Amino acid sequence: MSFPVHAITLDLDDTIWPIAPAIVRAETALDAWLAEHAPRAAAMWPLAERQRLREVANTERPRLAHDMTAQRQWMLERMLALAGEDVALTGSAYDAYFAARCDVEHYADSVPALERLAARVPLAALSNGNACLQTIGLMHLFAFQLGAREHGAAKPAASIFRAACDRLGLAPAQVLHVGDDPHMDVIGAHEAGLRTCWVNRVDDAGKTRDWERRSLRPDLEFPTLAALADWLDANHLEPISR
Ligand SMILES: [Mg+2]
Repeated sequence: MSFPVHAITLDLDDTIWPIAPAIVRAETALDAWLAEHAPRAAAMWPLAERQRLREVANTERPRLAHDMTAQRQWMLERMLALAGEDVALTGSAYDAYFAARCDVEHYADSVPALERLAARVPLAALSNGNACLQTIGLMHLFAFQLGAREHGAAKPAASIFRAACDRLGLAPAQVLHVGDDPHMDVIGAHEAGLRTCWVNRVDDAGKTRDWERRSLRPDLEFPTLAALADWLDANHLEPISR
């Protein structure tokens, strides 16, 4: 399939880097921080208990569901308070968690592919998570980063895709959204009027996923961002000058 692409919006977690190892690192960093600075909270809140608290947060504070930063800070404050620790430590505990959460390991093809894509069209990051591209060292490849936290609603809401298109100064049909999640990325972007690319990476067992929704297919499907960059090269012979 061939069609013009004037800009690309990109999901981050599980599209540019795998999120699971970063979350494991972040939880481990938080364990270490609590053990050192708030030992009563460390004893009271092992990982399994923190996961239960997150379910409580989803139930008691549903308005925080699109804001991973606020949700995590709410959790940490509650953990410290219930353990009889100083809640003024919340910010430092969050910083320890967040630094490790941003310590991501990119998929092997990601950075070279992003460089190729960014040489052709403006890129914008569109994420429900709270990863910081500045901290991660990729911001120079992106025109901007728009998160569910800043926007006030998460993908698959059409409003976040349209807000990104507005900021790019383009109509939704001129923009390609790229992401791994069939519902949040592909269906959400399609319903907002964008072109869609499903990143369907090979898992540890060497398998890709089946597309399950019959009524709608992504415009493009690739197992890597490198394959998307190849497609863009073949479809856009001249880089857009900026
Ligand atoms: Mg994702």
